[in-house]
Amino acid sequence: MNVPVRNLNLDLDLHSRLDVGRPAMELGSGVQIKGCKRKALTIPNIWEERSKWLKYEVSSKDETIKRLQAKTLELQAELKSVKEAKLHQEVELKNERDDLKVQYFKARNDCTAQFDQYMEERINRPLPGIVVVKRKAQGVCDPESLQALQEQVQELQAENLAMKQHTQILHKSFASQVEKVSLQVQEAIKENAALSLSLLEKYKREIVKRKALHDTLVELRGNIRVYMRPKPLRQSEGGVSVFSHDPYDDTVVSVPMKSRSFQLEKVFSPEATQSEVFGEVSALIQSVLDGRNVCIFAYGQTGSGKTYTMEGSLEDPGVNQRALKLLYEETQSATNMTYEIKASMMEIYNETIRDLLGSEPNERLEVKMKPEGGLHVPGLVSVPVKSLTEINRISKVAQENRVTASTMMNERSSRSHCILCVSVEETNRITGSKSKGRLNLVDLAGSERVSKSQVEGARLKEAQSINRSLSCLGDVINALKNHHPHVPYRNSKLTYLLQESLGGDSKTIMILQASSHPDNLNETLSTLSFGQRVFSVELNSKNTPSSARRPQSETPSSARKFAVPNDNPSTETGARTPTGSLVKASSVPSRLNVKRET
Ligand code: ADP
Ligand code: MG
Repeated sequence: MNVPVRNLNLDLDLHSRLDVGRPAMELGSGVQIKGCKRKALTIPNIWEERSKWLKYEVSSKDETIKRLQAKTLELQAELKSVKEAKLHQEVELKNERDDLKVQYFKARNDCTAQFDQYMEERINRPLPGIVVVKRKAQGVCDPESLQALQEQVQELQAENLAMKQHTQILHKSFASQVEKVSLQVQEAIKENAALSLSLLEKYKREIVKRKALHDTLVELRGNIRVYMRPKPLRQSEGGVSVFSHDPYDDTVVSVPMKSRSFQLEKVFSPEATQSEVFGEVSALIQSVLDGRNVCIFAYGQTGSGKTYTMEGSLEDPGVNQRALKLLYEETQSATNMTYEIKASMMEIYNETIRDLLGSEPNERLEVKMKPEGGLHVPGLVSVPVKSLTEINRISKVAQENRVTASTMMNERSSRSHCILCVSVEETNRITGSKSKGRLNLVDLAGSERVSKSQVEGARLKEAQSINRSLSCLGDVINALKNHHPHVPYRNSKLTYLLQESLGGDSKTIMILQASSHPDNLNETLSTLSFGQRVFSVELNSKNTPSSARRPQSETPSSARKFAVPNDNPSTETGARTPTGSLVKASSVPSRLNVKRET
């Protein structure tokens, strides 16, 4: 049977070896594999060929094995010789190390021996001084030289003693001289101290006298007091304060740079606390409970501390909150009286009154005369003060409603007058009688010069309005102090609103706020001049002691109209001479020719 080679299950390896790139191989029986496609092979032939092939393969593998075995033997011999060499090296290294050890111990022993020897030599070496002494001792052993030396020593000792005695004498005389001089110095110091003490006592007595006169003056002057609170310099501002204070006299403040001094009712130190300032006004606030009317104003340029003094902060409140608290606490402890305290808060901005506690803060309010007499502001919200929390709430709401705008002087510049009105109605439980007192706490708008704050347009109008109303306030105070027949209350909303709290036996305190910084010197001087004119008074000759006729004010106040610092001549109240000074009010046509309202 003929079987084609491709159908046989031949080893693929064999098949490929047979077929690929080899010269045709003789397979025996005349059969050639290369021709197997054409010639069919029989099975016995194939097995025969296959066995031949395998034999050939085995013999070639045997040869390879033999070759490898020979190679292995070669490598084993090589390994053996390497091992022997390594062993040999190790032995050599060990010998070398042993040699080194021996050398090391030998060297160490040598060193120790040398060191010991050196030390022994050092210890036993005689000191040079001893050698010298020994040599000298050998030299002076001669009795003559020894005698001479002893004589020399005795001479030297005698000389030494004489010098000592001389020194003692000198020392004693020096000590007595020093004592004499120090006694003289002490005497001089005592004399000086006594002199300065007597001068100080004299000065203090003078101050007391002057204060007594001052008090008389205040009494005679009546109801208007002027305080001054300097705003302290901040560390970051640097510079030196423009003020100088007399530690013995708190009624005088000086501005050395301009050689000017101002006398006022009270000058606070720059470090004065909120509570100290309140302490000075609290007595007056208490008089509201007795049915008095009181006005407290804070006056000064923007940034000088008006709002700080009047409102302060939540942690360290100013006059407003402390006043409400004081009134509230006083009324709580009263036994035979009942009190009703009410507060309202307004602002006057551009001659327009706005309610700071109302729900419509933009509504314009007006001052009206009541049919039964007296002034009132219809529609103004009045809040009963029934707790301390209520007091805080009032301040907060009012602050939020207040008009503020930015100027070059102060970012959060107050351009309006802010007035806290507190009314206290007292009822006597036993008699049923009633009395009513009113407290007006006014944080005035900034009094700075128009040109300095560099404002224009609406802001210029604001500034002019502020200056006009401050000027009117000065005019009213001036007219009241000097008992003028006409008091120009109606010339500004502020004075008209406060009319009933300014005249009669009402009390007024003006707190001047002034910056200590040299940059604000002109504004500071203007503020102080304004205050000085409020403070000074031309008293009636019939009730005035001649010594108290006028304190050291700069100009008789009645001779001047009130002028707030202002560069704008249109808003100035007096008339100016070519040199710029204000002339007497009586000599210029007055625009304040208004009849007294009350
Ligand atoms: P004004 O109301 O006059 O424009 P402010 O009361 O707003 O001025 O004061 C301006 C700044 O100066 C505020 O930051 C205020 O806290 C600070 N200040 C004013 N007076 C004092 C003072 N006596 N001590 C410490 N800081 C003050
Ligand atoms: Mg302010």
